[in-house]
Amino acid sequence: MHVRCNYCRHSFNLGRDFLVGAVLEAQENRQKYHGLECPGCRKLIKVPLNQMKRFVSKEELEKAAAAAEEASEPAEVGEN
Ligand SMILES: [Zn+2]
Repeated sequence: MHVRCNYCRHSFNLGRDFLVGAVLEAQENRQKYHGLECPGCRKLIKVPLNQMKRFVSKEELEKAAAAAEEASEPAEVGEN
């Protein structure tokens, strides 16, 4: 996904993997955007969540969310 800095007009590309992570993070924090630092001027660029979501499929998000949950949760003990 292509992003352009409003301050210095520097434009750069966000990879799909990055977007998946950014969308999950924004949703988790209940934010409507993902903030990232412009490589050109280091100001904060806010990329709207809706815009990012158009570039990643729901399937990818679910897969990544499940993987993240698995990784963050400690092994369950005594469930059986
Ligand atoms: Zn910039």
